[in-house]
Amino acid sequence: MLAPLIAAFSGVSTAQDSTITHPRRIAVFAPHPDDEVLGPGAAIKRAVDQGDSVFVFVMTTGDSNEKNCKVVFGHRCSAEDLMEYGRRRQEESRRALLQLGVPPNQVSFLGYPDHLLADLFQTYGADSCRLGISHPIPTGAVRTYCRNFFGDSTSVEYCANNVFHDVKAALTAVRPDVVYVTDLHDSHPDHAATGAFVMSALADLATDSSLWKPSNAEVRAFIIHFRKVCGGKERSWYPFPEGDHADFDLIEPSYQKTLSGVNVLQCLFDHVGKPSGTLTLTSDLKAAKKSAIGEYRTQLTTDVDYMASFVRNNEEWWSHVGRDIANPPDGYLTLTAVGPVELAIVDPNGRKLDVLENDIPDGLYLKVKDKSGSGLNRVILIPDPLRGVYTISTTGATGSGSTDRYSLYASHRGRQTWIAKGASLRVRATGHYVFETTP
Ligand SMILES: [Zn+2]
Repeated sequence: MLAPLIAAFSGVSTAQDSTITHPRRIAVFAPHPDDEVLGPGAAIKRAVDQGDSVFVFVMTTGDSNEKNCKVVFGHRCSAEDLMEYGRRRQEESRRALLQLGVPPNQVSFLGYPDHLLADLFQTYGADSCRLGISHPIPTGAVRTYCRNFFGDSTSVEYCANNVFHDVKAALTAVRPDVVYVTDLHDSHPDHAATGAFVMSALADLATDSSLWKPSNAEVRAFIIHFRKVCGGKERSWYPFPEGDHADFDLIEPSYQKTLSGVNVLQCLFDHVGKPSGTLTLTSDLKAAKKSAIGEYRTQLTTDVDYMASFVRNNEEWWSHVGRDIANPPDGYLTLTAVGPVELAIVDPNGRKLDVLENDIPDGLYLKVKDKSGSGLNRVILIPDPLRGVYTISTTGATGSGSTDRYSLYASHRGRQTWIAKGASLRVRATGHYVFETTP
C-alpha cells in the first residue's frame, strides 16, 4: 500500500509547498477575462483559504471577439456593442474571482487591446510610442473602460513601453511571492505575449533593485491554448481530451498513446517539457472552480466544452530552465522580419532551426498578422541557452516578387540591431546575415 500512499500524498501539494509560510502575496496575470480562473482558479481559491493575498491583472478586456459578441448580442456587434461586451467580460471576471475570495479592488484591468498584445510586444525597445498600435475599436474605448489599475482611470497609448511600465508597477506594488502567468508556449499570441511581458518585466526588476527585486518570487506559467503540429497533424493537444471530464487529470495518462498514432503526452512534453508543479483539487476546490467558471456567461455561449476542460483533478504549471527568475527571458534574442520574407536560422552548432516545425528548444514564435500595414510577419524569440552566432537566411514568402523589399532586425535586451533594411529579395537571396548577440 505504500506506493499508492506516496503517490496520493505527492499529488496533494508540491514539494515547495511543504516549506512555504503563509500569508504569501500572489500576482496573477491573465491575457483575457477568464484565463485567470481557467488556469489557476483553484490555486487562487486555495491560496485565499490559506490567508494569502491574491491580486489579479487582466491585460485586455477580451473585446475583439466579434464572433462570440454576435452570439451574445444576437446581431453583428457595433463598436459600442463590443465595448459593452468588454464591460460584461470585466464584470464576469470580478464575479468569478469574488467567488474564489478575491475582492474586486484586487482585480485590475490594464486596458490593452485584445488580440494585439503580440504586436505590441514587437514595439519593445522603440524610442517612443510612435510604434503604438491603434485599437480596432475607437480610441474612446480606453478612456471608457474602467482600468481600475490602482485607482488610475486615465488612458494610455498602446505601446510596449507602457505595457512594461504597467506590469512593473503591478509587480512592485504587489511584491509577489508567486506569479501566475500564461506560458510562452501558449499558442494564443496574446497569451504568449503576456508571458513575455511579465517575464521580461521580472528580468528588468531583477537588475534594478531600487524598488523591488523578485529574487525569491516563483513564476508558475500555465497553458490555456496548445494548438501545435504533432505527427503531421495540427490540433489542440491540451487539455486533452477536450470537454467535461471532471474525473480526469489535466494530462490524462490513459490518453497518452492514442489519437491517430500520436502520443498526446509526448507531443506536449516535446514542446513544453513536463509540468514542474501540480495542485490536486479537493472536491471543494473543484466545485469552486466549476462554479467560478460558470460566471463567464458570454464565453460559455460558444466555448462551454473548452471551458469545462479546465475542471479536472488537478492544475499544472511550468517553470522552465531559462525562463525563471534566475535566468530570465530578457536574454532572449528577438528576430523580426518586416516584409515578404520567411526566415531560416542556423544555430551556433550549424543546426538549421526550422521555423515551421518550431524546433528551437524553448524557442517561441509569434506569428503576427499584418493588421497595421507594417508588413511585420514573424517574430522569433530564441532563449538564452542558444545564445551565440546565428546565420540568418531569408527566402521569398509565397507570392512575393523580385521588387519586394524587406527588412530584418534583431533585438536583444530591448535594443534593436538592423540586419537588413529595405533590401530587395534578389539581393537577399545570395546572402546570409550573421548576428552575434552580446552577453
Ligand atoms: Zn485568453
